Amino acid sequence: MKRAIFPGSFDPITLGHFDIIERGITLFDELIIAIGINADKKYMFTLEERKNFIKACFKDNPKVKVVAYEGLTVHFCQENNVDFILRGLRNPSDFEFEKAIAHTNRDLAPIETVFLLTAASTSYISSSIVRDVIRNNGDYTKLVPKPVRVK
Ligand code: ADP
Repeated sequence: MKRAIFPGSFDPITLGHFDIIERGITLFDELIIAIGINADKKYMFTLEERKNFIKACFKDNPKVKVVAYEGLTVHFCQENNVDFILRGLRNPSDFEFEKAIAHTNRDLAPIETVFLLTAASTSYISSSIVRDVIRNNGDYTKLVPKPVRVK
């Protein structure tokens, strides 16, 4: 069974994440969307909200699971029999950042990181831009999957 994890904050999930998940799932038998909990970070959406948005997006796809985790991603992988880490690449700064993390993870555990290049149509989207649009009362609905709605 080929099991992969797609780790991130997903604050909130965007059309960019959605695209990577939809394409990633074709490569694996199971894809775990893993929401990393960082006690030092301030989030716009609660963990429950972030989880529920993702669950609603993929409610019809039994290959997609959603969990939250704390600590190192490689430890989560080892504890849950995960062999692959899926990440998305948008631009050179993503590449540099992801390269350092992937090399570090490979030093820590024999887990491969698989990169998918962003779709051209969603390459400019990030959760931080979405949060900025929300904070300033802009139309964020074009940037996120349908289940993501601000109350
Ligand atoms: P972080 O770990 O910095 O909180 P995110 O939760 O925003 O990151 O993203 C998790 C993963 O999704 C990362 O691999 C990131 O590169 C990828 N990603 C985010 N937005 C996009 C996008 N628009 N296109 C492709 N990949 C993306």
